[in-house]
Amino acid sequence: MSIEISRLVKQYGQQKAVDELSFSVKKNEIVGFLGPNGAGKSTLMKLILGHLYPSSGTLEVLGKSPRDIQTKQHIGYLPERTSFYTNLTAPETLFFFADLLGMEKSDANLRVSQLLKMVGLDGIGRRLVGEFSHGMRKRLGLAQSLLNDPDLLLLDEPTAGMDPVGCREIKDLILTLKKRGKTILMTTH
Ligand code: ADP
Repeated sequence: MSIEISRLVKQYGQQKAVDELSFSVKKNEIVGFLGPNGAGKSTLMKLILGHLYPSSGTLEVLGKSPRDIQTKQHIGYLPERTSFYTNLTAPETLFFFADLLGMEKSDANLRVSQLLKMVGLDGIGRRLVGEFSHGMRKRLGLAQSLLNDPDLLLLDEPTAGMDPVGCREIKDLILTLKKRGKTILMTTH
């Protein structure tokens, strides 16, 4: 099992954002977590990432507590809103994150060029991220979330605000990732 959640509760003061939630995600499965704004989707993502702690209930990610440091190396995360330096190009952005991950230069070179190709950002010259469309930023975010070659991908609203063609491209990419053995939990409206 990649994710196992039982009777999970997250309360902010009086506000219950997650209320007795139980479900599991098997290896190599794509699971969509559906709900309107305020349903608690982002809170769930943050709980799985170990950025927030549950008020009660249990939560296991890749067989361990979300607070386990080793486990984090096997997780990729695309937040709802990506934050990138606007004055860098797409490759520079990915090299910056590869550096933070402690990747060897030669591994990073190979990985960055593979990922840029995969998300369709390989032929855009030296355009700066600040000039990117919404869809291009999402695709760059997806590439960033894949830098560490994670087993488990958490995608928060990966298609929000995208036009139908962009949506289709992201969904096709998600299917490709499943074929490559990834487990994917994504949220959507
Ligand atoms: P979603 O991602 O589905 O839109 P959220 O997880 O962001 O939902 O929010 C779920 C509920 O928890 C909402 O009612 C929201 O106002 C509340 N909430 C989210 N984050 C906080 C916070 N840091 N403090 C207090 N309430 C919060």
